[in-house]
Amino acid sequence: MAVALSCHRCERRYDDIRVRCDCGEPLWIDADPTTFAWDERRDASGMWRYETLLPTDRPDGVARAAGGTPLVRSPGLDDAAGGRVFVKDEGENPTGSYKDRGSAVAVPHAVAAGDDVVGTVSYGNMAISTAAHAASLDRECIVFVPEEISSVRLELIAQYEPTIVQVRGEYGALYEDALELSERLPISVLVSDAPTRISGYKTALFEIYESFAPDTPDVIALPASSGGFASGVWLGVRELERAGVIDEPPRLCLVQTAAADPITRAFEDGSTDPTPVPPEEAGETIAHSIGNPDPPSGGRALAAVRDTDGAVVSVTDDEIRAAQRQFAVEGGFCVEPASATPLAGVSRLAEQGDVSPEESVVLVPTGTGFKELGTGGTDVTTETVHRAELSDRLESLLPPRGG
Ligand SMILES: *Cc1c(COP(=O)(O)O)cnc(C)c1O
Ligand SMILES: [Zn+2]
Repeated sequence: MAVALSCHRCERRYDDIRVRCDCGEPLWIDADPTTFAWDERRDASGMWRYETLLPTDRPDGVARAAGGTPLVRSPGLDDAAGGRVFVKDEGENPTGSYKDRGSAVAVPHAVAAGDDVVGTVSYGNMAISTAAHAASLDRECIVFVPEEISSVRLELIAQYEPTIVQVRGEYGALYEDALELSERLPISVLVSDAPTRISGYKTALFEIYESFAPDTPDVIALPASSGGFASGVWLGVRELERAGVIDEPPRLCLVQTAAADPITRAFEDGSTDPTPVPPEEAGETIAHSIGNPDPPSGGRALAAVRDTDGAVVSVTDDEIRAAQRQFAVEGGFCVEPASATPLAGVSRLAEQGDVSPEESVVLVPTGTGFKELGTGGTDVTTETVHRAELSDRLESLLPPRGG
């Protein structure tokens, strides 16, 4: 399968699959967006509608269920956000997060390239997603998790029966180890910025674009941690620009947790690359899917924001809790804490005057909240009424019908 990769920063090109450019930046896979019939509404085959722009053929199995998530106008969230809100609900992917778009491309690509075993370094959504897609293709999957991991998370990953290795030692350093292992052994460790993953992520942007066409949304807000998803969305924007179908790109707004926000810091001080947050400075957060202190695609995420005139902001756990509640109470969406950050972030941007009420804002809740239930956080209020008194109780709450 011939692929061409290029570097967003130095524009060097490569014709073999590798993750990093000689300049150190992560690579992505080139496609020719000018050949795609953008204005033709065709079948609703999810992200595989863009098969010709992806580095792998449409596989069978769970990969076909990836992408194609709904984009819904959600007026109940307008006040909270400070703009006209559209929700692109990535929680509706087969394992409940946008990671499936990446796994749907990366896992079949690795298999087609002859690797019998895939792996990943994650104890969250990426682990769950990679294990599911490997299971669907009947491939071995090895997941490297930290030694300290909650039994709930372990169970979510284990249901697909991958080999789970609990790693003692500095977990953050495993990213580099994984790349080295993938070069030496017949295993593809599909890390956050594996180029085939990034190709899959761009389909989220294509779908948003096609839902709005011929208009373009003003703002797209998403959480950022390693910067992989932001990179994929930016790749999508660039391909649409190259295809000549959009003039003014949406402003990409990235939201980080204040507990570990190297991308926000670099954005604020004008740096090209984030400076890793030292372990002693990284705090605890309820948004455990984000908060990478040393984001491998941080420089590319910053470039995405600057190229589209967007912004990066950080939000506190209190703001995240409030936004998660608003998603549910004003919108009807169950999102995980990390996925509530776009609402909290846009709300902040609106307060600063960077988003105005008439602008269309796409919030991307990246993952469902259903995996997190039972971990506390929601105040549960109920009352108990005997069946014989139900009617009296309801009469005290509701007026008579027609009255
Ligand atoms: C992985 C993940 C993120 C962060 O994405 P990056 O590509 O690491 O920036 C955000 N939200 C959820 C739910 C995730 O699983
Ligand atoms: Zn380069």
